[in-house]
Amino acid sequence: MKCELCLLNEASRVCRICGRHVCVDDYVEDKGICIACRDTLCYICGERLAVSLCARCGKPVCRLHSVRVGLVRYCVNCARELGILHQPGN
Ligand SMILES: [Zn+2]
Ligand SMILES: [Zn+2]
Ligand SMILES: [Zn+2]
Ligand SMILES: [Zn+2]
Repeated sequence: MKCELCLLNEASRVCRICGRHVCVDDYVEDKGICIACRDTLCYICGERLAVSLCARCGKPVCRLHSVRVGLVRYCVNCARELGILHQPGN
């Protein structure tokens, strides 16, 4: 079976999130996921699925690591820099 992402190499891994069969090049060994899913995970925790992209840095963030301001959402790092983070800690 060929890797479902690059369609070139032999698939030797299965992503635990999407179930795609992928080659080692397209697999994140320590997380057990494919690179396509890595891009859908929060860039801060790398655990939860991102709910949207930070309006400032453009990185994917989960609900927990983002702050919603009106219609947009910022990651906690940007929110902190912008002075709009009200939650303590983290
Ligand atoms: Zn591949
Ligand atoms: Zn995947
Ligand atoms: Zn997160
Ligand atoms: Zn950000």
